Amino acid sequence: MSQNSQQIIDQTQEYGAKNYHPLPVVIAKAEGVWVEDPEGNRYMDMLSAYSAVNQGHRHPKIIDALKKQADAVTLTSRAFHNDQLGPWYEKICKLTNKEAALPMNTGAEAVETAFKAARRWAYDVKGVAENKAEIIACEGNFHGRTMTAVSLSSEAEYQRGFGPMLPGIKLIPYGDIDALKAAITENTAGFLFEPIQGEAGIVMPPEGFLKEAYDICKENNVLYIADEIQAGLARTGKMFACDWEDVTPDILILGKALGGGVMPISCIVANKDILGVFNPGSHGSTFGGNPLACAVSVASLEVLEEENLADRSLELGNYMMDELRKIDNPAIKEVRGKGLFIGVELTEAARPYCEALKERGLLCKETHENVIRFAPPLVIEKDDLDWAIDHIKAVLKK
Ligand code: PLP
Repeated sequence: MSQNSQQIIDQTQEYGAKNYHPLPVVIAKAEGVWVEDPEGNRYMDMLSAYSAVNQGHRHPKIIDALKKQADAVTLTSRAFHNDQLGPWYEKICKLTNKEAALPMNTGAEAVETAFKAARRWAYDVKGVAENKAEIIACEGNFHGRTMTAVSLSSEAEYQRGFGPMLPGIKLIPYGDIDALKAAITENTAGFLFEPIQGEAGIVMPPEGFLKEAYDICKENNVLYIADEIQAGLARTGKMFACDWEDVTPDILILGKALGGGVMPISCIVANKDILGVFNPGSHGSTFGGNPLACAVSVASLEVLEEENLADRSLELGNYMMDELRKIDNPAIKEVRGKGLFIGVELTEAARPYCEALKERGLLCKETHENVIRFAPPLVIEKDDLDWAIDHIKAVLKK
């Protein structure tokens, strides 16, 4: 007999590590922007698995690629070639205008990969003295949960009990160009940043920061490393968030929607003077570049392009922000974002609002206590968005 929602939640509570605090809803089915619990209640997904489902749940083209590839070969390891990796390399390099790529599985692994690439580049190419390489990152960042990623973090809770942290990291206030200038030394390997800080609450740097930081990195022979795991791949209304200031990172880190919400796949892309620092034995992953993920990823990228999801995100995002700004509630401090990557900052806790929205059939999640993040799948129809906006207005208005 199949379980009901409460039984599943109880089972999860009983046997699972308590490293998440999900809303009390169980998703058993999904299609497009809609998900359904075991009792058949429907909800609109306004989070998109933190932007991993930009293409919508179970996009038919992506599921087709998955099924076809599942019937051919799913895993070879990198001990052998597989026939899906080459086409994926070419696709991602052409899309990003870079010479080479290195596939991993999760976002945090791709951040690790960028970190290793930057350090080795510092020693082998830039000529930094052994073990002296430094990476500059930003306060408020979120780069994942591995030791490198939490070492980069400025959140005490992300680090508590996990020390010692990795050395060779400097933090600057996000968006502070003078602090970046001051932090650079002859040992600086790279500057790692999110073009919009997602987990921090859709925090945007001052206009012009991305370009100014790029210029400073160039002047100082420092790698400009953009973590676009959450903001990239059409989410902000451009294919990449750095496109907003016409800059091309030296290392671009991608994940989440790279697998269309179907398979975990992440990567870094860069030119060969940087990615060339890796040789056999220096880095890898059993599942990295597996044929199932590669086939799914090519289809996922094609969907973004064929359905013009970046343009759609921009248009609908602007519309949604305009509507949200009309809500009259003194508890709303700011509505901000780019494309369908929207944060509503409140002067009070966001969780009760998220719970009220859930009761009306709309799933979203607070981030950092007082920000509600709205990031629906980019395939959302205008009618569905209007439906969501009506409910958000009803819940948010005083
Ligand atoms: N980097 C950014 C900007 C992210 O938003 C995330 C996840 O939210 C990560 C890295 C980590 O990705 P993953 O959870 O796949 O390891």
